[in-house]
Amino acid sequence: MSRGIITVLSGFAGTGKGTVVRELLKRHSEYALSVSATTRSPREGEQEGVSYFFKTKKEFEEMIRNDQLLEYAQYVDNYYGTPLAYVNEQLEAGKNVLLEIEIQGALQIKEKYPETVLVFLTPPSLEELERRLTGRGTETPEIIRERLKRAAEESRGMEKYDYILVNDDLDTCVEQFHHIIETVRCEASRNSDRITQIQKSLAEKYGN
Ligand code: 5GP
Repeated sequence: MSRGIITVLSGFAGTGKGTVVRELLKRHSEYALSVSATTRSPREGEQEGVSYFFKTKKEFEEMIRNDQLLEYAQYVDNYYGTPLAYVNEQLEAGKNVLLEIEIQGALQIKEKYPETVLVFLTPPSLEELERRLTGRGTETPEIIRERLKRAAEESRGMEKYDYILVNDDLDTCVEQFHHIIETVRCEASRNSDRITQIQKSLAEKYGN
């Protein structure tokens, strides 16, 4: 079985990353979602080990020291990071591992593992982004403003991503995402074992 690929999905807060990921997992069995560790407090309805592993600052810093994170970043005064063990386990099992993370972490991973696929999810317009952020109703106006300011910063890194995906219609967006990953898995550079095998068999049987 070929090794899965690490797929990063980033996008401004309120773009619908969570919904896209949930839908993708529901429709296609070859994906696994990495659950991040964070020092931020749980939002209503969030569950330990499902939404995040909620950690104290001290616990998080210990994970950093022990090299237990694939990457980590600070975002609006909190730490967020990807536990390494689960990602490796799933890749070995041939699953594509989805990381729903912000841009600093995405670029860290791309540098360490250039074969990572970076996908940036964007709303159809700024008005739609403002509407979605306000409509969620779980954050204070200051936090919403902070997140929009952060979006302005993050937009400057969008060109470093491999693919830009517009989340207008959910169904289209999910299927486009899946097609991207399927296509990437067909790249010749990711199929060297298969190539070598067929070349060798052909050479043995029919080569001069
Ligand atoms: P939220 O607090 O809204 O759940 O997440 C805030 C931001 O942190 C989002 O952009 C989310 O994608 C990002 N994030 C979540 N987990 C991780 C992680 O493990 N590493 C990094 N670098 N960012 C993360």
